[in-house]
Amino acid sequence: MRRLLLALLLVPVCLSAQPPAYDLILRGGRIIDGTVSPWYTADLAIRGDTIARIAPAITAPATRVVNLNGLAVAPGFIDIHTHARRGIFEVPTADNYIRQGVTTLIEGPDGSSPLPVKAFLDKIAALRISPNFAMLVGQGTVRSEVMGEVDRPATRAEMDRMKAIVTQAMYDGAFGLSSGLFYVPGNFTPTEEVIELARVAGSLGGIYKSHMRNEADGLIESVRETIAIGEKGGLPTQITHHKVVGKKYWGASVETLRMVDEARARGVDATIDQYPYTASATSIAAALLPQWAQEGGRESTLARLKDPATRAKIKAESVVIIRDVRGGGDPRNVSVSACQFNPKLAGQNLAQITEGRGLAVTLENAAETAMWIVEQGGCGGIFHAIGEQDLERILVHPATMVASDGEVPVFGRNMPHPRSYGTFARVLGLYVREKKLLPLETAVQKMSAFPAQRLGLSDRGVLRQGLKADIAVFDPATVRDTATFEKPHSYAEGVSLVIVNGQIAFENGQMTSARPGRVLHGPAHRP
Ligand SMILES: [Zn+2]
Repeated sequence: MRRLLLALLLVPVCLSAQPPAYDLILRGGRIIDGTVSPWYTADLAIRGDTIARIAPAITAPATRVVNLNGLAVAPGFIDIHTHARRGIFEVPTADNYIRQGVTTLIEGPDGSSPLPVKAFLDKIAALRISPNFAMLVGQGTVRSEVMGEVDRPATRAEMDRMKAIVTQAMYDGAFGLSSGLFYVPGNFTPTEEVIELARVAGSLGGIYKSHMRNEADGLIESVRETIAIGEKGGLPTQITHHKVVGKKYWGASVETLRMVDEARARGVDATIDQYPYTASATSIAAALLPQWAQEGGRESTLARLKDPATRAKIKAESVVIIRDVRGGGDPRNVSVSACQFNPKLAGQNLAQITEGRGLAVTLENAAETAMWIVEQGGCGGIFHAIGEQDLERILVHPATMVASDGEVPVFGRNMPHPRSYGTFARVLGLYVREKKLLPLETAVQKMSAFPAQRLGLSDRGVLRQGLKADIAVFDPATVRDTATFEKPHSYAEGVSLVIVNGQIAFENGQMTSARPGRVLHGPAHRP
C-alpha cells in the first residue's frame, strides 16, 4: 500500500519534469566565431558536447543559463605547438593553458615525440585531462630510434624502417610530422630524407611542421628548405615559432615573409606559427654549443669537452654564438630556466653564474660557463635575442597563427619561459587592445579556426551549430598576460569561463572538477 502511494505520488512529478532542451545557455555574449567575421550578439546553447544552437534569443529551458552581458565568446584556442608532456602528468588540468582559454594542445613538436604514439595517447587518455590533446610524430625521435644520433645519411633499409614508423604513428592518430632540424639528430638529416618522410605523412593526410635548421645566419636558407619540403613532399608545411634570432639578423622577416607569400602564390600551402615574446627557450647545450659538438649524445659531448684542443674549438664557436646569435650579445641576455644539478641556478643569468664561479664577465668566460653547465648535467635556458619589429611583422601576417611553444609548469617550480602562462592572453591584451596591431576577430582566428583548419579538425575551432562546444569566454577590455620573465608563475587574467566538450573546465577564477579533455586523432587514425 505504502509502495503504491509512493508510486502514485511520483507519477505526476515524472510526467511534468520535461527534460530541459539544453544543458547550458550562454546568454548575451559577443560571438567571435573564429572566421574573422565581425562579432555579433547572440545566445549560444550547448547540449552534451555540442553547440546545439546560436541565435539572437534562445528561450527554451536549459539546466543552466549564464548571463554574459557582452563578454566575448570565442572558440576554445588550439595551441599547435606545445611541449605539454612536460608537466601534464603532474598537472592534468593544465591550468596555465585552460586559464588562457586554450582547450586543445598539440604535442610532438620540434622533431620530438614519444613513440609509439598509441602507447603515449593511451596514457594521456587514462590520465583524465582538462584540455583536448593531440600529437605530431617527431622526425628526430624516429631517426634516433632507427639510427641513433649519427651524422650521416640514412641507408635505404633505415629509410624504410623510418617510413614504417611514421606510417604507424599516423595510424595511431598523429596529425603529421614535425622536425627539429636545429637539434641533434635532426640537424644531421639531409633535406631529401625529410622530404621522403614528409611524403609518407602527407599521403596519409598529415602536415609538416618544422623548427627550422637555423633561425639566425641561415634563416633564409632554412625557410627555403621548409617551403621545399612542403612543395616536394606534397603536403602542407609550417614554419613553427617563426623568429629571427640575433640582433645582427633582425629585419630578415621582411624577406622570409616575402618568401612565404611567393610560395603561396605558386600554390605551396605554407604557413607559420609564432609565440609573442622576444626571448626563446631551449637547453643551454642546444643553444650555446655548436651542433657538431653534440653528435653522438651526451657522452660524446663530454669526451670532446675533455680534450683541450676540441674544447678550445667549441669555446671559440660558443663565443660567437653568445655574441651574435642566441646570447643576444651579452651573457646577461641568457638566463637559466631550470637546472637539475643545481635548482638554485634557475633565474640567474649567465653573467651572474660566471661571476659566481669567480670569473670576470667576458664573452670568453661566459662560454666557459656554458660548457661547465653542460658538463654538470645541463640546464634549460631563456635567450633574449629576438627583435620586437620582426615579432610584430610576423604576427600580423595572414599566414601566421598563434602557438605557445610552452609546457605545463608545476606552479612555482623553476623559472620557465612565461609563454606557457601568457601567450594567448598576451596577443589579445598587448597586441590587440594596447598596440592595436590587429583586430580582435583576426587574433581569435589565428588561435582557433586557423590551427583547426591546418590540422583538419573540422569539428572544432569555429562557433557553429553542430560543432564541438570548446569555448573561451573573456573580457576584451581586461584580458592580459601577467607572467613575466622575472615572475613567470602567474596566470593570465580576463578569461572568465572555459568550456571543453560542453563541460565547464574553468569558471570565475577556479578550475572545476571536470576533466573533459579528449585525445583527438588525426586523419589516418585506425582504431
Ligand atoms: Zn622549437
